[in-house]
Order: sequence, then C-alpha cells, then structure tokens
Amino acid sequence: MTIPPGSVIGIVGGGQLGRMLAMAAAQLGYRCHVLDPIEDGPAAQVSAGFTRAAYDDIEALREFGRRVDVATYEFENLPVAALDTLGEKLRPSTRSLTIAQDRAREKAFIERCGARATRWRAVSSLDEVRAATAELGTPIVLKTRRYGYDGKGQAWIRSPGDAEAAWRAIGEEPAIAEAGVDFLAEFSVVIARWADGRHALWDSPENEHGEGILRRSTVPCSDSVTPLVAEARKAAIGIAEALGHIGVLTVEFFASRDGPLVNEIAPRVHNSGHWTIEGAVTSQFEQHIRAICDLPPGPTDLVGSGAVMDNLIGDEVDRWPELVAEPGLHVHIYGKGAARPGRKMGHVTRVKL
Ligand code: AMP
Repeated sequence: MTIPPGSVIGIVGGGQLGRMLAMAAAQLGYRCHVLDPIEDGPAAQVSAGFTRAAYDDIEALREFGRRVDVATYEFENLPVAALDTLGEKLRPSTRSLTIAQDRAREKAFIERCGARATRWRAVSSLDEVRAATAELGTPIVLKTRRYGYDGKGQAWIRSPGDAEAAWRAIGEEPAIAEAGVDFLAEFSVVIARWADGRHALWDSPENEHGEGILRRSTVPCSDSVTPLVAEARKAAIGIAEALGHIGVLTVEFFASRDGPLVNEIAPRVHNSGHWTIEGAVTSQFEQHIRAICDLPPGPTDLVGSGAVMDNLIGDEVDRWPELVAEPGLHVHIYGKGAARPGRKMGHVTRVKL
C-alpha cells in the first residue's frame, strides 16, 4: 500500500540516521515524527513532530502509532515487545530487529541463509570462554550478544591466558566468541528491499575502522574486494529475503582469503552508506523512505566515478572552518552536543567526478 507524500513517517530513535532519514523524507513531501528519550537530538531538530518518551513506554508508543502513517527505526537496541505495539505500521518489522540485536541469533540466522560467517561459539561462563578458546584457537574476540556497537562490549583474547581478563572486560555477560579474521579488507553491501521482493543495491564501499569505529568508506572498493562482491551480494539478498525485510539493510563483510565472511547485519541505513547522499543518484536515506512508503525504487548508479566518506569523530568536528572552506566538500554536522571521544559528530564526502 503506497503511503503518499503529505503522510507522517514515525522514526523511533533520534540520532544522526534519523536526521538524515527525516531530511530525505522532507524532500519527498513527508513529515517526520521522532520518538526518543532525549529532547532536541539530531533527528528532532529537523522533524515536524517529536515525542519525548522511553523506548519501552507502551502508552507513548501507542499514541505515536496513532499519529503516524508508517513507522521505522534508526537503531537496533530497542525493546521488541514495546515496538510490537506499532504492528503492521512498522517497517522493517520487529523480525529484522529481533535477529540483528542478538549476535548469536544473528550468526545462526546468517548461516541458515547459506552465507558464511566467521567461526563462532555462544559462551555464557568463563569455562565456556576457555573451551571456545581451545576450540577456535587464538586470536578470538568476545562480543556481548546484546547492546554492542562501534566496538563496545568487545574484548580480544590473543593468547589463552587472556580469557579471564576478556570475560571480565565484557562484564561477564552472555557473549559470542568469534575467531579473529586476518582480513584483507572490510566492506559492506547496502541493500534496499521492497515488500514485493524488489531490491536495489549500491556499489559496495570498502570500510576502514579504527578502535572498532568506522573511519572511512571508499567507493569503488579496491581490487582485493571486487572479486568478492558478487557472492556477498547474493548473501545479502538471501538475508533480506529470509527476513522479509522492508527498507534498507546493511551486511558488513570481511574480505578473507577464502571469500566474503559476514561480520554483522544492521537492519537499517548505515554509516558505510552515507557516501550515497552525494555519490549516488538515490541515497540510502531516500531509498529507505521509498521502500517503506512503497514508492518505486530510485536508481543507485554512481553520480561520478566514486566517493570517499570520512567520519568526524569527537573533536575532529572542530575542524569545520577548514572543511567548509574546501571547494566541493560535502560537510554534514549532526547537531549533537558535546564532542566526546569516539562520538560520531558528522562526516564529510568527497565525490570523484
Ligand atoms: P563489530 O562491532 O562486530 O562490527 O566490530 C567492529 C570492528 O572490529 C570490525 O569492523 C573489525 O574491524 C573488528 N573486528 C570485529 N570482529 C572481528 C573479527 N572476528 N576478526 C577481526 N576483526 C574483527
């Protein structure tokens, strides 16, 4: 069912992804209503409506559901039971969320879809961490099953003696132990899927991380990644299909010597797709709005010959005077308060013509 321009799109979550979704929606004539516990965040600043409420406030979500014609979410650490009150209006559905927010379920699901993931074991005690270390060998990385992002909730075990310290470092929480991959590069597949199964894919960005945080995405990817993109796309399409996903979905991969290995999935627009705002004919944000409102897919071709997106992390955003003075540089500043270390404050994109 088409949601026509003029309708209200609800966005659960008020960060920069919500901000860029709201800006793309406004261009198409929609109004956005944001629900977030924090007032005046990046998304609320550019949206027509705002509800301040906790994500598990069922009454507030019900009222929000009555006000909006369709709803979406912009991050995954959300209580599924509460979001279920939005029912059919929520796109993508909570199925995508349920799987993406638990790393063990996510890995098992990826494998059921026929895609290859890094070798892993679910662990919930120090003994299990030790057993996984013996089985998988070192190095391995422990990742909490829930609430990890940007490298948080992770600890490396480089030799068996590190097991106890790593288990303590992640707070002794249910986790997965994952084999460390000696990857050639990291890349992602950003895909948008419509309710009827149509889908659209962008060129795959190659992604560079520092301390678990994305620093740079480059399109086109390098020669070590290019031969792996076809298999990775097949995996991403299979995952989107199996989820019945509506909207943008991102699958992050390691380019290993044995081919593409899925690292994780995000049931949403993604930092590695920010370059599409200026670097592709249709951005990931506009495409997400098109998919959830059932408008036709937009073309995803490159505008020029490629693009490079760099995040502005922490006080890097203070470089804005020099950045806005660079001709042709696309500067995005998210309107966040304090520039704490590790916080994504903005990004810049250079389009290669
Ligand atoms: P994640 O939060 O799982 O995306 O991890 C953040 C970053 O840590 C990744 O983008 C990689 O750079 C690194 N990393 C995570 N898991 C592994 C792994 N199994 N092997 C090697 N590097 C990893």
